[in-house]
Amino acid sequence: MQLQPSLQLHNTLTRRKEAFAPIDPARVRMYVCGPTVYDYAHIGNARPVVVFDTLFRLLRRLYGDDHVAYVRNITDIDDKIIERHRESGEPIESITKRTAEAYLEDMRAIGALDPSHQPRATQHIAGMIAVIEKLLARGHAYVADGHVLFNVPSDPDYGKLSGRSRDEQVAGARVDVAPYKKDPADFVLWKPSDATQPGWPSPWGRGRPGWHIECSAMSAAHLGESFDIHGGGHDLIFPHHENEIAQSECAHGRPMARYWMHNGFLEVNGAKMSKSLGNFFTVRELREKWPGEAIRLLLLKTHYRAPLDFTEEGLRQAKAELDRFYTALRGVAAIAPAPGMVPTAVLDALGDDLNTPLAIARLHEEVRELNATTDAARKAQLKSILLQGGQLLGLLAQEPEAWLKGGAGSGAATDDAAIEAAIAARLAARKAKDFAESDRIRDALKAQGVVLEDGPKGTTWRRV
Ligand code: AMP
Ligand code: ZN
Repeated sequence: MQLQPSLQLHNTLTRRKEAFAPIDPARVRMYVCGPTVYDYAHIGNARPVVVFDTLFRLLRRLYGDDHVAYVRNITDIDDKIIERHRESGEPIESITKRTAEAYLEDMRAIGALDPSHQPRATQHIAGMIAVIEKLLARGHAYVADGHVLFNVPSDPDYGKLSGRSRDEQVAGARVDVAPYKKDPADFVLWKPSDATQPGWPSPWGRGRPGWHIECSAMSAAHLGESFDIHGGGHDLIFPHHENEIAQSECAHGRPMARYWMHNGFLEVNGAKMSKSLGNFFTVRELREKWPGEAIRLLLLKTHYRAPLDFTEEGLRQAKAELDRFYTALRGVAAIAPAPGMVPTAVLDALGDDLNTPLAIARLHEEVRELNATTDAARKAQLKSILLQGGQLLGLLAQEPEAWLKGGAGSGAATDDAAIEAAIAARLAARKAKDFAESDRIRDALKAQGVVLEDGPKGTTWRRV
C-alpha cells in the first residue's frame, strides 16, 4: 500500500530540519559510506548501518519497495588494508573478501536489509579515473610528482558542508604539507603505487585512488550525478564528505546530494571506544552473548543525531524489552493487514527526523493496550499494527515462541530450531490462506540470511 509521504529530515548542509522531497519519487536514491574492510566491524560501525537501514525501511514504506535505491559501498583498497597485509602476510584479496563477508553477516544479524547495491571500490577504478580526468580538464586538479591533487582554492564552495574556515580546513585536513602541493588544503585524488603495493594503470602511471574519489565515482555510477540522500557518521563530515562534494560538484557541475545526514558517535561508559582502553566491542563478539535484535534495539533507543552511550547493562534492558514484546504477541492469532490497520503512530514518529526512541515508546503503548484488552478481534488488530511498526524498525520479525525459547544466546532466529518453527508457522499461514503472513515470515527469514525453497517434498532452507 502506498502512503502519503510525510518525512522531515535534518540536513547537515542547511543545518535545518526540512521536508523531504525526492528528485524522482519513482526512484528515491540514498548513498551511505560503507566500511573499509580489514577487520571485524565494531559496535560504533553498526550505528550508521542500523540508522540508515531504518530510513531505507521507512522510504520503502512511503514510496514502495521497488522505488528506493540504496547504495552502501565497500572500500577494498586503502592504506590500512595494505598495512594489515604487511603485518599478517595474508593476501589482500583474502583479507577483503573474508572481512566483507563477515561484515555482511554481522549486519544481517542485527536486522539490516541488504542494500540495493554494494559496490566495491576496486570494481570502479575506471569510473574514478574518468572523474579525475574531468577535474583536470576543468582546472580543479593538477598532476604533481606522480600524484593527482584536487586544488581546494579552485572551488569557491569548498567548506559549505562543514562550515569550516580556511584555517580550520588546513589544520583539520591533518595532512603533511607535501612539497608537491600547491596549497596545504589540497587533497589526493590519485597516488603512485610501488611494486609492492596494489596498483592500476592510469594516464598518470601505475597507482591507486585516494579514499574520497571512490565514493564520488561509486555514487555517480549507481545513483547518477545528483541524488537524494547521502549519509554516514558525523566524523565523515570533514574531510571525507566535504571532499566528495568538491570532487563531484566540480566534475559534474551540479549538486551531488540534496540531504546530508550524519549519525552521532557511540561511546562506551562515557569514553571514546578504543582498543587500548579495553572498552572496544566488535559486533561479532557481542553476538556470541546477545541476540542481534537486542543489539539493534539498543542502537535505536537513542535518537540518531545524539551521542549514544553503549553499555552491556543497556543490552540487558533491550533484551528484557523484547521479551515483553514477544510475550505480548505470543498466542495472539495473526490476521492479514487490512485497510485502516496502519502503524500510524510509528510512521509519524519516524517521519519526524527518524525519531526512533518515540517510535519505540509507541510500540510499548500498543503492547500495553494489547495486554489490557480482552477483545480477541482488537488483539489481532493490535498485533498486526505492532508487527508492521516493528517491521519499520527492523524489530519483532521472529516467531514469539522461538524468541522466548531461544534464550539470550546468539540470534535466536538463526538457530536451526527457530528456523524450523518459522517454517511451520508459514505453512500454517498458507493453509489458512493468509498469504500476507506467510510472505512476512519468508521475508523476515530472508532479512536474517535464511532463504526458503518450496519443492514437491515441502520447504527446505539454506543460509546465504
Ligand atoms: P570507518 O570504517 O571508520 O570509515 O567507519 C564506517 C562508518 O562507521 C562511518 O560511517 C563512521 O562514521 C562510522 N563510525 C565509526 N566509529 C563510530 C562510532 N564510534 N560511533 C558511530 N559511528 C561510527
Ligand atoms: Zn564516502
